[in-house]
Amino acid sequence: MAFTINCSKCNKQFKTGYSAKKHYDHSHYQHPYQGGIFRDSRGQALVNQPKALQLDKEEMPHYKMWLALVAEQIVGSLTPSGKAGWQQIHEVHVKKSHFEHLLFSLGGPPLYQVRDVKHHKQPLHHDINRRFSYRIYDAEVVLNALTEQEIVRIQTSAAFRYGAQVNFQRFTSTEEAVEAAKQRAFSRFTTRVQGEQQTPTSRSEIVVNAGEGRSTRELELIWWPDVFQHCRDYGKLTVRLFVSKTTFKR
Ligand SMILES: [Zn+2]
Repeated sequence: MAFTINCSKCNKQFKTGYSAKKHYDHSHYQHPYQGGIFRDSRGQALVNQPKALQLDKEEMPHYKMWLALVAEQIVGSLTPSGKAGWQQIHEVHVKKSHFEHLLFSLGGPPLYQVRDVKHHKQPLHHDINRRFSYRIYDAEVVLNALTEQEIVRIQTSAAFRYGAQVNFQRFTSTEEAVEAAKQRAFSRFTTRVQGEQQTPTSRSEIVVNAGEGRSTRELELIWWPDVFQHCRDYGKLTVRLFVSKTTFKR
């Protein structure tokens, strides 16, 4: 079952919070957008949706430890042995209060979509399971949230010489990176470059932005609150993100 969100002005239905807002900003731009309510096919308003809620001080050390684990997995997605493109990171035992604090630290992103779908994966299989999705298009917002812990240093890009990470020059575009690789290739025949062992063979980058046209580059949080029927304070979180990888051929 898919939930839809209605425009508060003209009652038009949308499948995502994003398209509802886009419609509103285009058609009713005289009034500021106030958000909307998701309803099921019978018109019942969605209940029990996660809230952006700040945790108590006492719980913060536990949250930070959990966040560090997530951060390590996100940074780990840069590894050249991982695939390029969309990646999914699964957190199977997540405290609901931790997820709600994560929403809080992300500035309370609007709900993108709600659906009741099958969940035939680990940690538990269900024929029907509720799925909440949030999409974040601002890399700065993601960085701010991830640096609430200090255990794992957050990096959104890395260069590698085969499997090992090396220091690298920060390129602003793929073209620039390719140009630098060409220069390095050429320099082999002229002068011996110092620290040649550090020459990267590949570079990875986590991309979070609004994307262009149909190719979106958001970071998506997918929350399954009902995966555990007996341990209801826990849910499953999937982080979906885009990792671009460039290999320098020599
Ligand atoms: Zn409207």
